Formats: sequence, C-alpha cells, structure tokens
Amino acid sequence: MGSLSIWLASYWLGASTALELRETSRERLSLYEATLLGELDKYRYLPFVLSGNEDVKELLTTFQNDPYFANKVSKSLAETNNKAEANVLYIMDKKGNTLASSNWQDKTSFVGHNYSFRPYFQDAIEGSEGRFFAIGTISGIPGFFMSHPVYEDGSIIGVAVVKVNLTPLQQQWNDGGENVYITDENGVIFLASQKDWLYKSLRSIPIEQLQKLQRNKQYGESKFDILRTDRIKVAGDFSTKIEGERYLETIQDIANTNWKIHYLVSISPITENQRTIVAIGIGVIVTLLVLALFIRERREKVISTRRALEAEKMEEMNRQLEIEIEERRRTEKELRAAQDGLVQAGKLAALGQMSAAIAYEINQPIAAIQSYVSNCVSYLRNQDDQELNNSLTEISSLTEKMGMITAQLKNFARKSSLKVRPIDVVKAINKAGHLMQPVLKAQSVFVELSTEPKTMLISGDEIRLEQVFVNLYRNAVDAMKTIKGEKIITINTSVTDTQVRVIVSDTGTGLEKHVLNELYDPFFTTKSNSESLGLGLSITYGIIKDLKGEIQASNNPDGGACFVLSFPRYIEK
Ligand code: ADP
Repeated sequence: MGSLSIWLASYWLGASTALELRETSRERLSLYEATLLGELDKYRYLPFVLSGNEDVKELLTTFQNDPYFANKVSKSLAETNNKAEANVLYIMDKKGNTLASSNWQDKTSFVGHNYSFRPYFQDAIEGSEGRFFAIGTISGIPGFFMSHPVYEDGSIIGVAVVKVNLTPLQQQWNDGGENVYITDENGVIFLASQKDWLYKSLRSIPIEQLQKLQRNKQYGESKFDILRTDRIKVAGDFSTKIEGERYLETIQDIANTNWKIHYLVSISPITENQRTIVAIGIGVIVTLLVLALFIRERREKVISTRRALEAEKMEEMNRQLEIEIEERRRTEKELRAAQDGLVQAGKLAALGQMSAAIAYEINQPIAAIQSYVSNCVSYLRNQDDQELNNSLTEISSLTEKMGMITAQLKNFARKSSLKVRPIDVVKAINKAGHLMQPVLKAQSVFVELSTEPKTMLISGDEIRLEQVFVNLYRNAVDAMKTIKGEKIITINTSVTDTQVRVIVSDTGTGLEKHVLNELYDPFFTTKSNSESLGLGLSITYGIIKDLKGEIQASNNPDGGACFVLSFPRYIEK
C-alpha cells in the first residue's frame, strides 16, 4: 500500500515535471529559431543589393580580366562588409570564379577560387536565390551562404554571395549552458552548442546523398559518424539518451528551411523530484512505522503495567483471603469451644427448670406425708391400727415416689461421661418422658409412642441423648400451651440396616418460616418467659452432630411441628 502510494506520487510528480520541462523547452526553441532566422534575415538583402551595384555589373561584363577594377570592387565589398558585419561578401562570374571578395587581402581570400560546385551558386545561376550551409573550403569556417543572380539586360552575368558566420550563435548557446543543435535534411548536425557533435549524423546517410555531400564539399572531409540517440520512457514521456546522458528532447522545424532545431534539457529535475518524493515517502513510512512501533510498545507497556497491578491486586486479595480463612478457622474453633460450653450451660438451664418442677412435685408428697404423720399420731393415740397401717403405707409410697424423682434428678445432673457406647434410643425417649412427666401432666399432654419391636442402638452418650428428647418434649409442650384442641406428642421410631430414625411431632402452633431459618441459632427464641434462653435447639443440634446424626424441622400437613432425627445405627458384633 505504502509503496504503491509512493510509486503513484513519484509518477505523478515526474510526469508533471516533464510537462513543465516540455513547456519551457518549446518556449526556448521558439526563441532560438527566432534568433537564428533574425540573424539570417539581417543579411538576406545584401546579395540582392550587391547584384544591383553598377561596379559589380561592370566587373562582370567589361572588367572581367582587370585586376585593378576587381580590387576596387573588392575594396568596396570590404567596406560594405565592415558596416554590415557579415562574414564575407563576394562576386562570382558565370563559371563560378570569384572575381572580387571582401576578404581579398586575407590569406584565405576567395578571389580566384571557383565555387561552381556549391549548390548556392548553381541555384543563383539558374535564377533563384541560393541558401546553403557549408564549411568554408579555404577558411574551414562554417557559414551560411546566401546568393543572388546578377542580371544585365535580362540575362545572368554572375552571382553575388554573402557568407554569414553562425559560430557566434553557437558560442552564445554554449555560454548560456544550453544544449541546442540544428540538423539538416540528412540528419547531419551542422550547428551545435556541443562542438563534439558537429557534423555527426543522427542516422546513416544513403550512399547517393553521401556522394552529393562529397561533391559539393558541404561539410568538408566529415565522416558523418552516427550520434546514437536512444529513446527511453520517463514518467509519462520519452527521454533521449545521448552518450550516456538522458535528456528531454524537443524538436521543431525551422520555417522556410528543411532544418530542424533540437533542444535538450537534462531529465535530472524529473528524476531528482521523483527521488525526493520517494525519499519523503520512505521517510514518512519509516516515521509512521517507528511511530506505530512506539505506540505498540507503549501499549504493551501499559498492558503489562496493568497486568502487574492486577497480579498485585490478586496477590493482595489472596493474602486477604488467607487471612480471612485463618480467621474463620479460629472463629470456628472458638465457636466449637463456645458450643461445648453452651451444651453444659443449656443442661444447667434445663436442670433449673426441672428443679422448679421437681420442687413442686416434691412439695406435694411432703405436705401429704406431714398430714399422714399427724394423722398417724392420732391413730396411735386411739389405737386405730387399721388406719395407722393405711397411713404408713401411703407415707411409704409417697417417699418411694420422691426417691424416684431425686434418683432421676441425680441421673440428669451427672455430667456426661462422654464415653461412647451403644445406647437404646427408645430407652432414652422413655427416660426423657419420665423426667418431663410432671410438666406433661400439668399441661394435659398426651404422648403416643410407636416403636418397632427391635432394639434400636446408636453409638453415644445416654444422658446427652436424653437431653435431646427432653428439649423436644419441652418445646412441644410450650407450643401446645395456648391451643384449644387435643395436645398430642407423637413419637415414631424406625430402623434400617444403617440408620435409626425418630420422628417427633406435635399438635402445637407449628413453625413459621422465619423461625425455621433461625431455629438452631443460639439464643433464638420466640418465647417471652425468663427461662427460655433460646438454647434448647442449638444444644440439641450440637449433641445430634456429636452423635453423627441429623435433625430436620418442618410442619405437619395438618398443623404442628415435626422434627425428624436420624442417627447411624450401632451394629453389634
Ligand atoms: P427456647 O425454647 O428457649 O425458645 P429453643 O432453641 O428450644 O429455645 O427453641 C427456639 C424456638 O423455636 C422457640 O422459641 C420456638 O419459637 C421454636 N420452636 C421450637 N420447637 C417448636 C415446636 N415444637 N413448635 C413450635 N415452635 C417451636
């Protein structure tokens, strides 16, 4: 893409430079043609004027063999020439012999020389004006010859000629640093700013033409070497290659002649401009590339810095996470410790509750015993043995009942041994029922227990399992306190190969949704009485977990709460 743009720009610039060069070349050519024609026109009248001169005519008629008269005419020609500043003025007779010449006193005087071989003589002798460019046979100086017939009584008696030296023009071109040359009809260069190219031909000259040139000695002894010109394409134009140099060549016909004027200008402005644009293009591309590379590097740097920052952030987050995990572990440990403490605290709270119930239960028999004892005193006094016996039997049974209560109390208060051994789930349910008996009775709660006729053993601690059921009993009783209908606690136990399952459900108020969510949270309670610490179920949950069991709470379809407990079964070996 980049190189295509450079190529297009360079082509476009080259082509427009070539156009400009062509334009100026054409202007220069017109100027050179005008100067050349002006130079020739300046002397055109001279042969004509000479042909009308009386002395000239006399020389050609009466004084043909009079050297004195000839000298006189030559002298007058020299004077005219001095004024006109032409090269040479001379007069020839009908045979082409020069009778008088402005250079009669020079070594190279034309006087006495015959030029009948020159075409300008032949043209004039035939009645027309002659025009001819040739190298002087005597002087060796190239010049442009213009001739006119001299008439006497209507017939041609001789020829008047002016030779114009065009070398100053050539010199002018050269001095101006211009590259100009003029070719004749044969392609021979006869005027050129570059002297080496003079009398070389642009093409090979046909043999008869060559012979003619030799005859009229137009270019002296010239060999007419070929000046090789090759056409080579350049930016929408053609260049001409001459002797290793490339030029833009513009050619123009010179009016009233069969000459052509050639103007050469170096193509270096074209190639230089192209080179410059290519250099600029490459420069721009390189700059863009460097810029692109720079931007890419910057972006990569920014990305890598960002990545490094992100990595740092991640590391920081990781560190934070590790700290949090560590904290969680510690909290968990603390919670476990707290939970163990709560189990004990919960047990004590339950004990407190039970103590009140037990105190109430014990007070009654004590009061009864007191009244029986006082009765016994009067029976003894009256010797009523029968009544005395009855009363003592009552006292004995009441004491037995009290003994049973205290035995249970002792049993519960005993700190869990934490000894793991096979325990019977149904037995634990019954024991808890016993402990709760006074409360159940006071609240008129009916307990329905259905079990399979199999022993249902699990691994664990008896007293802790009893506490689980005591808690469940108590919560059920509390939930049924305010209801109008029947107060029933239904307990179902079942066993599979691997599990023992206990379902405790009641006909109480049931569990609301928010309660279900927080049920096992320590100190969560909906009860307002001071004994309800909200520890029961959290302790229960902890004990069940210790026994590797599960507890799940839900509501019965026809109301009331339902707790499903499952424990891994203890298999006897
Ligand atoms: P507490 O009995 O001291 O309130 P718990 O942890 O034993 O503490 O019970 C938490 C809460 O769970 C109770 O306050 C009660 O709202 C609810 N709950 C427990 N068992 C039942 C049940 N059988 N029926 C209805 N609600 C219950």
